[in-house]
Amino acid sequence: MIEQLLEKENLNCAEIVTLLKAEGVDKKKLFEKSAQIKEQYVQNKVFFRGLIEFSNICRKDCFYCGIRKSNSSVSRFNLSDDEIIEAARFAYCNKYGSIVLQSGEIKSRRFTDRISKLLYKIREISENNLRVTLSCGEQDYSTYKKWYDNGASRYLLRIETSNKDLYYKLHPDNITHSFTKRKECLNQLKTIGYQVGTGVMIGLPFQTIEDLANDLLWMKELDVDMVGMGPYLEHRDTPLYAFRNILKDEPSRFDLSLKMIAVLRIMMRKINIVAATALQAIEKLGREKAIMIGANVLMPNITPGSVREDYKLYENKPCTSESPYDCKSCLEMRIALTGNKIAYDEWGDSQHFVENRII
Ligand code: SAH
Ligand code: SF4
Repeated sequence: MIEQLLEKENLNCAEIVTLLKAEGVDKKKLFEKSAQIKEQYVQNKVFFRGLIEFSNICRKDCFYCGIRKSNSSVSRFNLSDDEIIEAARFAYCNKYGSIVLQSGEIKSRRFTDRISKLLYKIREISENNLRVTLSCGEQDYSTYKKWYDNGASRYLLRIETSNKDLYYKLHPDNITHSFTKRKECLNQLKTIGYQVGTGVMIGLPFQTIEDLANDLLWMKELDVDMVGMGPYLEHRDTPLYAFRNILKDEPSRFDLSLKMIAVLRIMMRKINIVAATALQAIEKLGREKAIMIGANVLMPNITPGSVREDYKLYENKPCTSESPYDCKSCLEMRIALTGNKIAYDEWGDSQHFVENRII
């Protein structure tokens, strides 16, 4: 029965649910199939994206996130341009090929101009050899367009959940947290020409297995180029913490996350899939396991050590006390264990994007 399902690329909701519920021998077959598809379509390679979490200032109040606006116990930071450029230089000198600039959501003319200036400087120090992904939340079309014109080529904006009702259990129902606006942003990013990445949290309170199956179908329908999804991890200073008693335990959330990655690899063979850091918060070798069954992107944290403690979206975030150098040698060892090669000096554009959308 499962063998037949695993031969299909276009799965329906019920079939996805069956795969997400697979246990024992069936689960093993699912992971073998997704690993084989990964090797066949995107090779056993891992692309590095140096992650720079440059500010934890945020105008939003997502109920799950440790740096939400109303959390007054966070000490807020904003790295200087020089610190950001230094981190970008580290990525470039270490042949990472690509960086991600991520922050809380700030919407202002000043912020827009600052990112533009940074994009220009990054181009300058890397002789235009670093691909830049932005992950700075919801912005206006004109801002997205300006950043694209200034050199950003990829954008990460997770939908968090594709179920509208669930979305409003996780976010305040107001104009700053509009589900419609979030979807509109993703469409705008696609229209502009970005490689678009999205994703969801897995194991959220009130989330069903059917919700997760529909998330995967929604990603396929949106025809995304990259996906980063990982387990939801509770943070004590957030409203959602009150529902920790109805959560699946961490090992189950981890297991479900791996299955989500495996099924997505079967459904969307040539996209880039991130082995999310949150996986490592649950299991020491969590990201490596994800790489072995379908993920092909890893985002080493290259944020300067001094502020890492303050960018805690969830608790038990790994590696907050290490320098980028520690992370690099540690990662090399870890990737070697998976039988994958680190694609140094490669941009690692999503093959799905390259083949479908570039004219
Ligand atoms: N502000 C931007 C980018 C930073 S947040 C944005 O929201 O798009 C990046 C991601 O962290 C979010 O999309 C969310 O999926 C994830 N995140 C936040 N809190 C989390 C938690 N408690 N557990 C797991 N992931 C979380
Ligand atoms: Fe802000 Fe992003 Fe956290 Fe929401 S998830 S509170 S937008 S940093």
